[in-house]
Amino acid sequence: MERRTFLRQSAALAALPLLRTAPGTPSAPAATRAPLRVNGARLNGWLAKFDSIGRTPGGINRVAYSEADLAGRAFTLGLFREAGFTPRIDTAGNIFGRLEGTDRSLKPILIGSHVDSVTDGGNFDGPVGSFGAIEVARSLREHGVRLRHPLDVVVWSNEEGGTIGSKCAIGHITPADLDKVARSGKTIREGIGLVGGNVARLSEAVLKKGDVACYIELHIEQGGLLEKAGLQIGVVEGIVGLRWFEVTITGFANHAGTTPMDQRQDPMLAAAKFAVAVNETVRSVPGRTVATVGRMNVSPNTTNVIPGQVVLTVDLRDLDAAKVAHYTERFEQLGREIGAATRTTFAFTRTVDSDPAISDPQVMRWVDGAAEVLGFTRQRMPSGAGHDAQEIAHIAPMGMIFVPSVGGISHSPREFTKPEDVVNGADVLLNAAIAADRR
Ligand SMILES: [Zn+2]
Repeated sequence: MERRTFLRQSAALAALPLLRTAPGTPSAPAATRAPLRVNGARLNGWLAKFDSIGRTPGGINRVAYSEADLAGRAFTLGLFREAGFTPRIDTAGNIFGRLEGTDRSLKPILIGSHVDSVTDGGNFDGPVGSFGAIEVARSLREHGVRLRHPLDVVVWSNEEGGTIGSKCAIGHITPADLDKVARSGKTIREGIGLVGGNVARLSEAVLKKGDVACYIELHIEQGGLLEKAGLQIGVVEGIVGLRWFEVTITGFANHAGTTPMDQRQDPMLAAAKFAVAVNETVRSVPGRTVATVGRMNVSPNTTNVIPGQVVLTVDLRDLDAAKVAHYTERFEQLGREIGAATRTTFAFTRTVDSDPAISDPQVMRWVDGAAEVLGFTRQRMPSGAGHDAQEIAHIAPMGMIFVPSVGGISHSPREFTKPEDVVNGADVLLNAAIAADRR
C-alpha cells in the first residue's frame, strides 16, 4: 500500500470514536473506539450447529429447495430473530434483516451471502458470509453503535444453482430460467414458492441502481492462494469473467488397422494437440488467466476405429475482459492451425459468457483499511469462482472479503476454514461496514 493511502485510511478510522451510541444503551461505552470486534465464539458456535443440517456420509447436502435447505433457512431465520431482527422474505425467496440507521434519507449498506450448498459440499461456502453478516449486525446493536445508513443483512436463495436469488434481485431472471429443474428435482419456479417467495410478483424483489449504498460479501477463498502466501485476508478485486466454448472437431472415421498413419484425418489427435496448445498458450504469458479443456466426447469412441468427431469444452477465465477476448482469438487461431495440420475442421460455439464483475475501488479501500487497523496480513486478488456479488455489482458498488480455505479445498466435505479466520473475516466485514457508513 502507498503511504498516502495508508495515512488516508488511518485518518478515516481515527474518526471512529465519533460513532454514535444509542441513548439508554446500558452496556455501551461513552465513545466506541475502533476497531470493533464481533463475538467470534458465538459466530463459530452457529457454524458448528449448522454443520448437522444436511450432513450426510458424502458431505453437506443443502441443495436449494431441498428439505435440508428449508431446514437451513429456518435455522438462519432463527439467528435473525435471536439477534433481535425481524427477517422478511422477498418474493424471490431471499431473506433480509435490517438494522435501522439514523438518517432516513440514506440507502442501505448491504452485507450477506448464501446458505445453500452444492451436492456433497462443505459447511463454510456461504454460511461464513451469511452468519458473519448476522453477527456483524448483532455486534453493532450490542455495542450500541448507530450507523447513519440502514444495514441490511441478506441471505440469497439458491446461489449454487446459478446465483438465482441475486439474479432475481437485479431483474436478470427469465421465464426460461424459472422452468429449469434445480438439483433438488424441483423447478426454480416451484422452489421459489417453497422457500416463501412468489414468482407471480418477482418484480417486487428487484433492486435498482441507487437502491443500495454498497454491497460487501464475506466468503471463503475456495482456493489455496491465501494459505500458500500465509496471509489472513483477501481483498477481492473482482470476480473473473467466464467464457465456455464447445469445440467440434470433425475428421473422418476409418479402420484403425488398414488406414496408414499418413492418410488419417484424426480429430482425437487434433483434440490432444489443441488441449496441449491451450495450456501452453496461457502459461507462456505471465498473468492469472486460466483455461481448461474439461470434457471430451469422442465418436464413435471405439478401440479399433479412428474417431470421426470429437466435441470438447474449454473453460476460460480472467478478471480482464480484454484478456478473455485475446485468448478467444488465440484459441480460434490454434483451431485453424491444428485443423490444417491434421486435415480436420474446428467449429467453436460459445455456450456461456459472463463478463468480469469488478470490485468498486472505494469498497476495496474500506475492506483494505479495515484489515489494516485490525493488523491482518492481506493481498488483493481476483475471485476465480462465481458469487452473488457478481450480480449485485450490476446495481451497486461491490466488494468482497476472502478468508483462507485450508488446503484450498471447497465444494467438498473436506472444505474447512479455521475458526480464527472466520472471526477475522467477520471483524473485517464489521469495520468495512463502519467505514462505508462514514463516507
Ligand atoms: Zn458461495
